Amino acid sequence: MALREIRIMGDPILEKISKPVKAMTPRTRELIGDMLETMYENMGVGLAAPQVGVLKRIVVIDTSLEEEPHPIVLINPEIVETDGEQTGEEGCLSLPGKAGQVTRPNHVKVKALDINMEPIEVEGEELLARAICHECDHLDGILYPTKVEGELHDMTAAEEDEEDEDGGDDQPKE
Ligand code: ZN
Repeated sequence: MALREIRIMGDPILEKISKPVKAMTPRTRELIGDMLETMYENMGVGLAAPQVGVLKRIVVIDTSLEEEPHPIVLINPEIVETDGEQTGEEGCLSLPGKAGQVTRPNHVKVKALDINMEPIEVEGEELLARAICHECDHLDGILYPTKVEGELHDMTAAEEDEEDEDGGDDQPKE
């Protein structure tokens, strides 16, 4: 596995629509491993393939934060149910140091394929629901600033300090 370079907003690849994965290949498996490593290294809670320059419908998510790692790999994800509403601060590894308020569904059900191309269904609430929506948006070339209510703002030093004992999870970077 290897770290991949994260594309930053302004890179046209982030605004393109990703293509469905048709079959698992060693190369795609390697990409997924690299995406997980890159997400953890950058303290993100999610990462989509276009963020590392690959236009494939693959996202990785782990909202377990400081607890035991619980990686979720979603291939060709499709949100099939949403419920409720949550408004909160959102960040993105492609917009380092920035955050903004976004309203998302509070509960999301997504259908996808796992790394063995087996169908799976994942349901999530709160942060997980937010991460699923945010990552699926990346696959359609949508970045969260288009959904920000009010101003996109700079994270404060305290908010950015992931090592902060009681902080770090206010602005999940996806
Ligand atoms: Zn993002």
